[in-house]
Amino acid sequence: MTNFSNRVTKLFGIEYPIIQAGMIWASGWRLASAVSNAGGLGIIGSGSMYPDVLREHIQKCKAATTKPFGVNVPLLYPDIDKHIDIIIEEGVKIVFTSAGNPKTWTGILKEKGITVVHVVSSSKFALKSEEVGCDAVVAEGFEAGGHNGREETTTMVLIPAVVDAVKIPVIAAGGIATGRQMLAAMVLGAEGVQMGSRFVASEEASSHINFKNLVTHSAEGDTQLTLKQLTPVRMMKNEFFQQVQQAELRGATKEELAALLGRARAKKGMFEGNLAEGELEIGQVSSLLKNILPASVIVKTVWDEFMSGLANPLKNL
Ligand code: NDP
Repeated sequence: MTNFSNRVTKLFGIEYPIIQAGMIWASGWRLASAVSNAGGLGIIGSGSMYPDVLREHIQKCKAATTKPFGVNVPLLYPDIDKHIDIIIEEGVKIVFTSAGNPKTWTGILKEKGITVVHVVSSSKFALKSEEVGCDAVVAEGFEAGGHNGREETTTMVLIPAVVDAVKIPVIAAGGIATGRQMLAAMVLGAEGVQMGSRFVASEEASSHINFKNLVTHSAEGDTQLTLKQLTPVRMMKNEFFQQVQQAELRGATKEELAALLGRARAKKGMFEGNLAEGELEIGQVSSLLKNILPASVIVKTVWDEFMSGLANPLKNL
C-alpha cells in the first residue's frame, strides 16, 4: 500500500493516480477490473457496446472487483440515453464523458451522485467542463490515439495551459505509457495520468491479438491523425489509412470520406484483427511499447518508475 495521496486518488478512492482510458473494442470488464484491482482506475469503454452488452460488462466488473471503476461514454454514441439509464440503474459511481458537449449530461449524472470527468483537447473546453460541474478533466494531447482534437495541441503544451485555466484536477493523456512520462506530466501540473495505448497491449484487453502484436512491433511515425473533415482520429498507417490519404489528395468530399469509412471499420481492425482493411486507432506512444503485459504489471511498473523518478528526477531511468 502506498502513502501517496492527491486530489485525483481522493476523488476516485484509488491507490495510484493511474487511469486506464475507456477505449472501443479494447476495454471491457476484464481489463477495467484488472486495472482497478491493481490500484488504478479501470474504465469500461461503452462506445462499442450495445446497451445490453454494457449492462453485462458493468455487472461482470462489479463481480470481479470491489474497487472503484468507471464507464467512458463517448457523447456521439447513438443510444446514449439507454447507456446513461443503465449506468444509473447499475449504480456506477464514476463516468468519463468524451467527444461532445459536457453540458448535456453532467448535471443529470451529478444529481445521481456520480463523479463526472470530461475529456478535452483545449483550455476552452476544460473551462466549459468546469462551469457545468465536472469534477475533473482529462486533458488529452495530439499524441493520443482514436478521437482527437482538431487544433493538434500537444500534451506538453496542453497540460500547463489547462492546469492554469481551471481549478479542478487535471488528468494528463496523450503520449503517456511509462513512469518517466507520468512524472513529466505531473511536473507540468497534472494530478494523474490516463493511458490508452499501453493498456491496448495488455493481456486483458479485448482487442484482437493481431492488433496487439502490431502495436508492440510498431515504430516511430507509424501513426497519423487523419479524417479531419469527419471526426479526427489517430490511427496506424495501414492500407485503409492510405486509401483515406489518397481520397483526401483527390479532394474527396465529406460524404465520399464517410462512404469510404463505411460502418464498423474500427471493429474490423481492432476487434476482428483485419490489419489491412480495418481502422486501427492507437497513439504515438505505441512505438515505445515492446511487450503485451498483464494490466497489474503495467500499473506497478509505471508506478515504480514514477516513484524512482520522483526520488531522482534527472537520472536516466
Ligand atoms: P460505426 O458507426 O462505424 O459502427 C458502429 C459500431 O459500434 C459497430 O461496430 C457496432 O457493432 C457498434 N455499436 C455498439 N452499439 C451500437 C448501437 N447502439 N448502434 C449502432 N452500432 C453500435 O462507429 P465506430 O465503430 O467508428 O464508433 C462506435 C462508437 O465509438 C461511436 O459512438 C464513437 O463515437 C465511439 N468512438 C470512441 C472513440 C474514443 O476515442 N473514445 C474512438 C472512436 C469511436 P456491430 O458491428 O456489432 O453492430
